Amino acid sequence: MRLITRTGRETAVDAEAVESFGASLAGPLLAPGDAGYDAARTAFNGAFDKRPGLIARCHGTADVVGSVRFARRRDLLVAVRGGGHSVAGKSSCDGGLLVDLSPMRSVLVDPARRRADVQGGATWGDVDRETQLFGLAAPGGIVSHTGVAGLTLNGGIGWLRNRFGLACDNLVEAEVVTADGEVVTANGERPELLWGLRGGGGNFGVVTRFRFALHPVGPEVAAVFAFYPLDAAVVRRWRDWAEAAPAEVTSEVVLWTAPDVEGLPPGARGRRVAVPSAVYAGPADEGERVLAPLLELGGRLGEIAGVMPFRGVQQAFDPFFPNTGEIRGYWKSLHVPALSDEAIELLVRAAERRTSEESMVVAEHVGAAVRGVSVDATAFAGRDAAYIVNFMATWRDPTDGREHVGWAREAWDRLVPHSTGAPYLNFLGEEEGGGEALVRRAFGPNYERLVALKRAYDPDNVFRLNQNVAP
Ligand SMILES: Cc1cc2nc3c(=O)[nH]c(=O)nc-3n(C[C@H](O)[C@H](O)[C@H](O)COP(=O)(O)OP(=O)(O)OC[C@H]3O[C@@H](n4cnc5c(N)ncnc54)[C@H](O)[C@@H]3O)c2cc1C
Repeated sequence: MRLITRTGRETAVDAEAVESFGASLAGPLLAPGDAGYDAARTAFNGAFDKRPGLIARCHGTADVVGSVRFARRRDLLVAVRGGGHSVAGKSSCDGGLLVDLSPMRSVLVDPARRRADVQGGATWGDVDRETQLFGLAAPGGIVSHTGVAGLTLNGGIGWLRNRFGLACDNLVEAEVVTADGEVVTANGERPELLWGLRGGGGNFGVVTRFRFALHPVGPEVAAVFAFYPLDAAVVRRWRDWAEAAPAEVTSEVVLWTAPDVEGLPPGARGRRVAVPSAVYAGPADEGERVLAPLLELGGRLGEIAGVMPFRGVQQAFDPFFPNTGEIRGYWKSLHVPALSDEAIELLVRAAERRTSEESMVVAEHVGAAVRGVSVDATAFAGRDAAYIVNFMATWRDPTDGREHVGWAREAWDRLVPHSTGAPYLNFLGEEEGGGEALVRRAFGPNYERLVALKRAYDPDNVFRLNQNVAP
């Protein structure tokens, strides 16, 4: 069979070698035409339609080791997939080997030590399901089918960030399959590798197991999703409230068109709205009191608010992001030190100019638990801004992507003067030429240290399909 190499050439791999590779795996090895191949290659972002030459559906670390060694021996192009939510379509490839960890989803909780061991293909829904049994949680993302791996490796912002930090801040150990197919443990004995995995992306190897620190959360929490007309005054009042709120509060505002779906307040459905939202990571009754002002920002259309299961909060956005490949997306983000009135006007104007009603502008408030960590403590460097702003172009029609991409890029350009100029890499879509300059900006003062680590662990850039740090 013909496969694509790391440098983009075609190479012939004999059928016997492929067969014996397949026989060595505990999980199935799929090629184009095999039953299950199309389902296995489908990822969240339908804007990409990649066809790997082979997909190794890994059932354990040994399958990952076997896959990396098979690829190395033949210099094959390697893509690595955890939850398959890469906005930039980086977790697949055309013609190479896809090392697919999505069957590896076990989560083992040690409630006494407040630790969870999470396999490399698990989703945040898997983690919440197991940790919440014990009233514990690890800071993750806000859509439950997003992968733990990609989200953690490039930072990870969710509803617990202002209380307990980023997902990567809570990573205390990882099992990694290196570019040579060796299994190593990143912990106190390999502090530099652990440092790099805390925000440096998938550059240093395939993470087969994450160990997270857990915190008491829930099982019920106070949360508010308040729907208002799309109006700069509402966003200004939200900003003033969010900045004065205690550390238990994690908050954001979503500028959007509320879809006509059950569960949303009838007065909001189909309208262009601003949705100030917040979760309180502390006693629920106290949280209800602290979050109440979010319901009084002026002209409210409706709300989803009260004490609710933490797992329900973690799934609240799921219906709007079906994990079927039908959604197409191009997202772009910026770290914004302070949300001035002028910047808020830009966000509201951008929301008004959206080319798809499904697109969103989201401003996420980032508190001291993230900003107070020194920039060299982890590879994640975007700690100098109180907001992350995302322009999330989202559409379904396969023919008209360019218009929506153009909207996100224009909105982003306008906000640059109000920002640090650095993107949050988990919300960075496919950039022309690979976006090297943006990756450098995102890593800022940590970039050269990451290059040194890349040289130590992956000098040939086997793991290149990611927000890449070139050796
Ligand atoms: C619907 C949706 C909601 C989101 N919500 C949030 C949010 O709330 N907070 C947030 O911070 N981000 C969020 N994101 C962005 C998200 O963090 C990134 O898309 C992230 O890359 C997803 O991780 P994944 O494992 O699903 O991705 P994948 O597509 O599987 O992988 C992403 C990258 O990580 C690499 N990778 C994957 N698995 C491994 C592994 N085991 N070892 C080494 N490298 C690996 C891949 O090669 C690829 O480069 C969201 C994205 C989507 C689509």
